[in-house]
Amino acid sequence: MLKALFPNGLKKAFTLSYDDGCYDDIRLLGLMSSRGIKGTFNISSGITRPEGQEYIGSWERMTPSELENYRREGIEVAVHGETHRDFTKLSEPELIYEIMSDKSAIEKRFNTVIRGAAYPYGSFNDLTAQTLKRCGIKYCRTVWSDPSMEMPADWLKLRPTAHHNDPNLNSLVDKFIGESPESPRMLYIWGHTPEFRRDDSWGLIEGILDKLAGRKDVWFATNIDICEYDLAAKALEYSADGKYVYNPTAKEIWLENGKNILSVKSGEIIEI
Ligand SMILES: [Zn+2]
Repeated sequence: MLKALFPNGLKKAFTLSYDDGCYDDIRLLGLMSSRGIKGTFNISSGITRPEGQEYIGSWERMTPSELENYRREGIEVAVHGETHRDFTKLSEPELIYEIMSDKSAIEKRFNTVIRGAAYPYGSFNDLTAQTLKRCGIKYCRTVWSDPSMEMPADWLKLRPTAHHNDPNLNSLVDKFIGESPESPRMLYIWGHTPEFRRDDSWGLIEGILDKLAGRKDVWFATNIDICEYDLAAKALEYSADGKYVYNPTAKEIWLENGKNILSVKSGEIIEI
């Protein structure tokens, strides 16, 4: 079996994940767009600030019309539970409703099919993961850090690299930029944008984004871009003698064969 790389043979991916659909997301969206950075915003569609109600600078959500700010290139909107209830404290029907009502509301607003999520409060167990899968969710982010930057073993218990307030964040970013990894690495930063306002730390995230922006060896992607690419790479089929690989998915997949980098297009069989 060959080693899968990211698109165009890259070995590094960077993504962000911000929760709750807060008003301060608008500022982060601007910082990301101007630098070509992509990422994911997890929203609880049942909790919005009433239209016309002034923003007073606490942990307030977007108004329904402000949610339109997410409708832009390179931004994924994902499920965070319709009313931000702890998934592990719900009965199975309540959990299904909490997931599906949020999924449906976001899909209707953005004319898309939502396949991603983040756990409210980071709480999860085997039942929540299984239920999300049955609801068509491909990945769900926890709040438990994994500084290894290795690709996740279980996308439904996805561990981010670090919260933006992690004291090791800058050294993790420097390591990510400086290393030439054997296997693909994903740098994944998460948080809530009102924390930047509360901590007066917008400069922190701007500095991180400036370090990463424009790097040719990094794939800038949303959470679902990376998840679905990884799942597609794992779905490749090999001949019995290992000399051919078949790509049954809709994505072109990049592989490393010794020192050679090659790609197998959707529906193609190639000799390796
Ligand atoms: Zn939350």
